[in-house]
Amino acid sequence: MAVKGKRQVPHVLAVPFPAQGHVLPLMKLCRRIASRGIKVTFVNTEYIHAKVLAAMSEDDKKQNPIQLISIPDGLPAEDDRSVGFELMESVRRTMPENLSNLIKKINGRNSDEKITCVIADITVGWIFDVTQKLGAESVAFQSAPAAGMAMILQIPKLIQAGNLDINGSVMKNELINLSDNIPPWRRNKLSWSFPGDLKTQTIVFECFMDAAKTAHHAKWLLCNTFYEIESSACNLIPNLLPVGPFLSTNKSKSSSIGGSFWQEDTTCFSWLDEQPIGSVIYVSFGSIAVFSQDQLNELALALELSGRPFLWVVRSNLANGSHVKYPNGFQERVSKRAKIVEWAPQEKVLAHSSIACFLSHCGWNSTMEGLSTGVPFLCWPYFSDQFHNQNYICDVWKIGLRLNPNKNGLRSRHEIMTKIEMLLSDYGIKANAVKLKEMALKSVSGYGSSSQNFETFIDSLKN
Ligand code: UDP
Repeated sequence: MAVKGKRQVPHVLAVPFPAQGHVLPLMKLCRRIASRGIKVTFVNTEYIHAKVLAAMSEDDKKQNPIQLISIPDGLPAEDDRSVGFELMESVRRTMPENLSNLIKKINGRNSDEKITCVIADITVGWIFDVTQKLGAESVAFQSAPAAGMAMILQIPKLIQAGNLDINGSVMKNELINLSDNIPPWRRNKLSWSFPGDLKTQTIVFECFMDAAKTAHHAKWLLCNTFYEIESSACNLIPNLLPVGPFLSTNKSKSSSIGGSFWQEDTTCFSWLDEQPIGSVIYVSFGSIAVFSQDQLNELALALELSGRPFLWVVRSNLANGSHVKYPNGFQERVSKRAKIVEWAPQEKVLAHSSIACFLSHCGWNSTMEGLSTGVPFLCWPYFSDQFHNQNYICDVWKIGLRLNPNKNGLRSRHEIMTKIEMLLSDYGIKANAVKLKEMALKSVSGYGSSSQNFETFIDSLKN
């Protein structure tokens, strides 16, 4: 029994959206919260929970300070979770009740361990209606840039002004501009744009409209960014606490913080150790992007023709859902200077001294990881906020170059090779990348802006 008048011990329940780019950063944030002696319970969907546990070593499970639990996602076990909108609809239909039952169960077990705060991904922020009724404080979490959130908050105004229709399609062929210091958004390049797939776009757009309400109602909106790189966007969001970049505190090469859906291939490190300093092209497109076999052939041949060492993350579904077929003889020809893995310990790979550049899809987590390690980018965005992140990288921070598609929509081997050479001989870009790395590390250390914001949040959890 809790003693009357006694302050409730903080207990955070973290609820990510069930996708890799949302689970990992929330896990990193939770690790930091737990390191301050605060109890954290992390609730994944059963499907994701199984993946996360399967990817963790027994030692990592034992040492994990966070309790990992699960609830159903509402889809039958055999269903394909890669069809995003079905998963989104199902989670939305079933999560509020599942979560409510879970919180009641936890709260009923021991009154000293009641859930005091729910940190939910902004895309599942509608659960706050339920969690608030159970006495928990609402904190929203955004794994994308503050600019993306600022844009989402503008949706009602943009609809009213006739810039957007109710499906999120751009009505006027104009750039959408929020501030002089934030790159403008183009038609079909918004976070919710799915050109040619109106059904998915409409569901994602509705989700963002809900996120706008959530952001207003939550006590804080924690974002994986830092004030110095997105000050204009941060200033547009009243309850925003930029607390990023979310860097892993665990530097050990043999252990991971948990949250990956695939087992990290740690053989990368011995291979990287053998490569000259600043020589390796690291190629990774995150967890969702897929490409045609023709496009992957161009990329493979460009990496071969570059003559440089490369580490390429090739997920088993990278070729439009299937295994990649390499060009004839490719693997033999590059075997002395190439490493191909299914999933890399990315953050630690990027921090390795042998890395020269990052050929990336510009997912926000990858963007923050590359930026925090001072690595220049070759940008190849795939969907959602990745186009906007590319604009930040190339036009605002000037730490990378675009890989442009040709008239057939392919990034040709010639384009890729040319840009690799241009990037690696551009000392201005490298100098900017090093400067941004220093800014990022400063923001999360000592009296840095993100560090202070994090303290504000911890104080509010405890009081
Ligand atoms: N990642 C990883 N190993 C890989 C590829 C990616 O650990 O081989 C991690 C990466 O460090 C990042 C996340 O997966 O934290 C991907 O998130 P991001 O926002 O970059 O892209 P998304 O997967 O959401 O498209």
